[in-house]
Amino acid sequence: MARVCNFSAGPSMLPLEVLKKAQEEMLDYEGCGQSVTEMSHRSKEFDKIIKDAEKLFREIMNVPDNYKVLFLQGGASAQFSAIPLNFMNKNNKADYIVTGVWAKKAWQEAQKYGAARKVASSEDKIFSYIPKLTKDDFDPEADYVYMCMNNTIYGTKYPYIPDTGDVPLIADVSSCFLSEPLDVTKFAMVYGGAQKNIAPAGLVVAIIREDMLGNAMPITPVMMDYKVQADADSLYNTPPCYTMYMCKLVLEWIKSMGGLEGIKANNEKKAKILYDFLDNSKMFKNTVNPEDRSLMNVTFVTGNDELDAKCVKEAKENGLINLKGHRSIGGLRASIYNAMPVEGVEKLVSFLADFEKKNS
Ligand SMILES: *Cc1c(COP(=O)(O)O)cnc(C)c1O
Repeated sequence: MARVCNFSAGPSMLPLEVLKKAQEEMLDYEGCGQSVTEMSHRSKEFDKIIKDAEKLFREIMNVPDNYKVLFLQGGASAQFSAIPLNFMNKNNKADYIVTGVWAKKAWQEAQKYGAARKVASSEDKIFSYIPKLTKDDFDPEADYVYMCMNNTIYGTKYPYIPDTGDVPLIADVSSCFLSEPLDVTKFAMVYGGAQKNIAPAGLVVAIIREDMLGNAMPITPVMMDYKVQADADSLYNTPPCYTMYMCKLVLEWIKSMGGLEGIKANNEKKAKILYDFLDNSKMFKNTVNPEDRSLMNVTFVTGNDELDAKCVKEAKENGLINLKGHRSIGGLRASIYNAMPVEGVEKLVSFLADFEKKNS
């Protein structure tokens, strides 16, 4: 079996141990004579899966008791609508920090439901940095402040958590979920799609402070009402059962890696190998503001589109796949999520060094 090193931004690699466990249990889950793919979401077996997943999530992320952990559908993109529908409920306005395409989409969607103000943007420099904001930059009357913690396409991450005073802070953490410890108490809601760091596609995990719930706009579709989902323990309708099971397996794997501290150490090690190479290369450059560098998505360019394309193509021939940068910025991007082993990054660096030697 020759498995490739997959640097895709999402859906992305899953830990080999997790895939093997899922394979083992595919036909007969814990002696119940059926696969989780076939199981009723109201069965006692599935009830244990969802409860275990929530318990592990709370334990690993240190989620306080006054927060709900919800398993939702529709991807992160569905939350772009659900967030204003649920939370633009006092003054009908919110502040958005636009640090990339995903934050911009969330901001544009929110404009349908109320006054969504762009507090700051880094679009002037192709989203290559994170604006530095202080409490005075935010409208104290805003119903919430919205941010995207890790900008998947550009390879930036907030080096700080903005101080928004009493205004609830909401963060999209899709591409950095469970990649390092996060102080949940600083947020009213953190959420993300599972397909980057947690599970196959089809699942969103949202952690929401309880006092935020229960004031959705009357027009809110029932599936998007977080209170409805919370009251139903994420089983208002049929959830993506198999993806939730995979999520549980990944959480068990994270625990076995020493929790988020262990995962963080591993992620820092991988990122350092790659950034150190880029900083010393004469051919490849990372163009992001150094202090805002992402641990998860590493973007780089040669400055020559043809050479970029050649590099992506030859990497693929060497089992290093999906290194093409997002179509909006080009260049190359290596997404090195939790499941990417250190050896995968080492292979990439040795390939890039070789490519540089042959092409300069
Ligand atoms: C991938 C991604 C999204 C979009 O996720 P979908 O689940 O496809 O809607 C949103 N935000 C961030 C930060 C992402 O990385």
